[in-house]
Amino acid sequence: MTEYEAGDTVFEDEPYAAIVSATSLDSVCSFCFKNYVEYRCSLCNRLSYCTEGCQQADVFHDRVECIALADQDKIVEDEVRLVIRTAARYKHEQQRNYASLGNFFGLERGLDDLVSHLEDLNDDERQKVKAKAQQIKSILDRVGVSIERKELMEIYMKCKINCHLVIDHNEPEYLSRGRAIYLAASKLDHTCVPTENYTLMFDGRRLVIRAMKNFTLKDPSDLRIHYVPSNLSYNDRRDRLLKNYFFLCSCDQCVSQLRFPAADDDSREERVSEIAEVLRQYDPDSWSWFDTATKVLQKFEGVTDRDFHLHWLLLHTQQAAAHQKLYSRSLEYGTRALKGATTVMGFQRILFGLLSCAKHLGWNKRDSAYIDNFTGIKRISEKLFTITHGKDHSIVKMISESRPVEQSR
Ligand SMILES: [Zn+2]
Ligand SMILES: [Zn+2]
Ligand SMILES: [Zn+2]
Repeated sequence: MTEYEAGDTVFEDEPYAAIVSATSLDSVCSFCFKNYVEYRCSLCNRLSYCTEGCQQADVFHDRVECIALADQDKIVEDEVRLVIRTAARYKHEQQRNYASLGNFFGLERGLDDLVSHLEDLNDDERQKVKAKAQQIKSILDRVGVSIERKELMEIYMKCKINCHLVIDHNEPEYLSRGRAIYLAASKLDHTCVPTENYTLMFDGRRLVIRAMKNFTLKDPSDLRIHYVPSNLSYNDRRDRLLKNYFFLCSCDQCVSQLRFPAADDDSREERVSEIAEVLRQYDPDSWSWFDTATKVLQKFEGVTDRDFHLHWLLLHTQQAAAHQKLYSRSLEYGTRALKGATTVMGFQRILFGLLSCAKHLGWNKRDSAYIDNFTGIKRISEKLFTITHGKDHSIVKMISESRPVEQSR
């Protein structure tokens, strides 16, 4: 039994292997995931680093990935690159009779302990994994890493099931920067119930669970994360959990939603596909994207803003409106998006957008009719970000500096 105070680190873990997404390779350091680069690998001319130190620390790039990338015409898929790095490290350690271990509250875990569910695949799925493993094997063969295809199939599935998207929580846009696989954190089980005591976040490539309030952890297995978003419908969660993680969830939320199913919703299927299509083309700087998005939003009037798909559209429309300098519209969509946020991190990202729009609209001027709204948003932002990021973090300083000002004349 351990007691935590708001702001405490409950758990943290460094990745076994991590890769920056192909789309961010030019701007994000491939070792520490900082959104700043100064050096580019001169051999593959693809990966970048913030310092020489980071470049040197990224040993499995030098040994394997760099050579593998250098002779490819286009950048290899993110998924495949993560497997290349994981397999390279695994074989490298195996040859030295060594295995890195993660530590989950005293319980040690190596890559061998991660689940692969290879035996649960149907024939069709198995063939696909086999083909992927063969593709990766041929890359690894060329760079002198010898590994059996069966072993690679295991590692491929382990990466697929245990991989985390690494979000940049050090910059307020909270953009996804890459993906990583963790040993100790792979012990974190799933729940569909929103967690109020703590939140999952990333500091660079490090995965962190931060206490949001004072609470007592009776058993480390009580620490849960969301493998799939908790505001997806019961059927969507069940399908995704089964397909990607091979289990049926029986958490309180699932049991109650299974016993008392939500009424059928006629526009649901149309909504899902239409919103997915709009989000696929997301471009915050394009007026026509914004125009299309607002028309789609109008079509789903009457659907709750807590709806998972509508929430995502609102979130993106909030950002696009701000890019178009339509600050009141951005505030309107952001306020609606807040209702559907189910995680602290989701909440914070919207809140930060609201605060900066309110400033653009002059709500921070002392004689503004909206000064109370401004100070309200600022107070809650300051409080939440101080708990998650610490009072000295640059985001907290940005928020603190947006204090009320005299009316400029
Ligand atoms: Zn770096
Ligand atoms: Zn390179
Ligand atoms: Zn559940």
